[in-house]
Amino acid sequence: MQFRTRAIHVGQEADPSNGAVVPPIHLASTFVLPTANGDDAQYDYARTGSPTRHAFEAVMASLDGGARGLAFASGMAATHCVTMLLKPGDHLVTGTDIYGGSWRLFNNVLAERGISITAVDTTDLAAVENAIRAETRMLWIEPTGNPLLSVTDVAGCAALAQKAGALLVADNTLATPVLCRPLELGADIVMHSATKYIGGHSDLLGGLLVARDQEVGEQLHWMQNATGAVMGPLESFLCCRGVKTLELRVHAQSATAIRLAAWLHQQPTVKRVYYPGLDGDPGHTVARKQYHGGFGAMVSFEIDSDVQGAQRFVESTRLFQLAVSLGAVESLIEVPAVMSHGAYAPEARRAVGIKDGLIRLSVGLEEAGDLENDLLQAMDSLSAS
Ligand SMILES: *Cc1c(COP(=O)(O)O)cnc(C)c1O
Repeated sequence: MQFRTRAIHVGQEADPSNGAVVPPIHLASTFVLPTANGDDAQYDYARTGSPTRHAFEAVMASLDGGARGLAFASGMAATHCVTMLLKPGDHLVTGTDIYGGSWRLFNNVLAERGISITAVDTTDLAAVENAIRAETRMLWIEPTGNPLLSVTDVAGCAALAQKAGALLVADNTLATPVLCRPLELGADIVMHSATKYIGGHSDLLGGLLVARDQEVGEQLHWMQNATGAVMGPLESFLCCRGVKTLELRVHAQSATAIRLAAWLHQQPTVKRVYYPGLDGDPGHTVARKQYHGGFGAMVSFEIDSDVQGAQRFVESTRLFQLAVSLGAVESLIEVPAVMSHGAYAPEARRAVGIKDGLIRLSVGLEEAGDLENDLLQAMDSLSAS
């Protein structure tokens, strides 16, 4: 079955007891056991596993091409669970253009647990190779980075991780399995914030891991059950529903994004556009190789201004709502320096290239012309003030 068909049918079999086309939301926290020692029980306690969560985990394992899916209460809970595989003395190599919350977890929480971290520009494979040490156990990448939308070569990183005996984990939140499937390119684990494109409607928090091999999947499930930050049944149901339209939404939103990126590139107030779908973008060549059907629906751009100017800009849009997060049907706008990446120290932020005048768009499903007009009126109000 093709991707779009699996998105609708895997894990979503009609309920055999009454024929309901949509599987119900199972709220039970505990399950009747056939025997006292629990042999042959499909479910026993909902932290370990529950039917609605399993439906979502099954469809995502299928879409990402892995052996096992695991759903969490948030993307950060999923990320935290993976990093719990590391032990004191281990070394993690990560990118510089990554989600601000991951940056905070790595540099504060993990560093305190005696895990050393090296952040490098993962678009540069030689820099990744140089950062790998004998104790390196994990390489953490975002195929499309955030907020600079840099593109990391997943297959190239997989070869380096394999040589080092380290796990390659790809946070694929921005690309989604519609555009990129890291497990097929050699990654061991893929992580998603389901809060973003998978949920797709700004109405839930969720996270997901998919392991390529059963054995890593078992280790992660053990850790998930031991630490407990699982996805609840309502969120699992909403995610199953979101996944059914994931391909349609990501394709449509990416098509609008590339149009807006090209348009922004022509605006005199815009100094630079970051979008891997543009010909001249530094990530374009790798993006063409590893993405299919589009380049994603995030666009960043720099205006010639200080952080106050960028703040005035994002406060003047009407359709683009001023909010962090991304990936939903409604378009959002934000200033990474003070919002999504405010967890970085200012020097660290500038060092990784997040300028004060950088603005990040999450392009939704609205009509492209309406979005263009909204940005235009915000540019006009900026130059008038
Ligand atoms: C939002 C996000 C996360 C964290 O997910 P939450 O669901 O907010 O915990 C991680 N990585 C990326 C790229 C994200 O956009």
